[in-house]
Amino acid sequence: MSLDESRPVSLEDLYQEIILDHYRSPKNKQPCPECTVFVHQDNPLCGDEIDLHLEQEGGRITKITFQGQGCAISQASASMMTEAVQGLTVEAALKLSEIIRQMMHGQTPSEDIGDLMALARVAKFPVRIKCALLAWVALTEALQGERGR
Ligand code: ZN
Repeated sequence: MSLDESRPVSLEDLYQEIILDHYRSPKNKQPCPECTVFVHQDNPLCGDEIDLHLEQEGGRITKITFQGQGCAISQASASMMTEAVQGLTVEAALKLSEIIRQMMHGQTPSEDIGDLMALARVAKFPVRIKCALLAWVALTEALQGERGR
């Protein structure tokens, strides 16, 4: 791919590119036989499916992988999520999940969330919000699994 230098790359283009990159070459998309937490989430409206595998130790996410299928947004979001929360404390991961949820409802994040900002554009397409949030819902469920059941 060549970049046309005469044409400035807009933030929208950059965000689009980040999402497509994660969709084409997802991070952490593999089984995790040693992981003890497993969560399945699906979005029947779009046909998206996410299987999340997670392991934590001492209040920190030590390993997180996913498998799944579906639209580019759902799969890219899952890839970005696993990359973002790997190594985070459970508390920080839950907070990040909440920031993403609020962002999908049009709120601008109060802190720097890096490439995850690419998901912000999804908020403009209400039918896609569930696609983008699927992996984050799975993450929250995986981290809160022991609670309230
Ligand atoms: Zn979808």
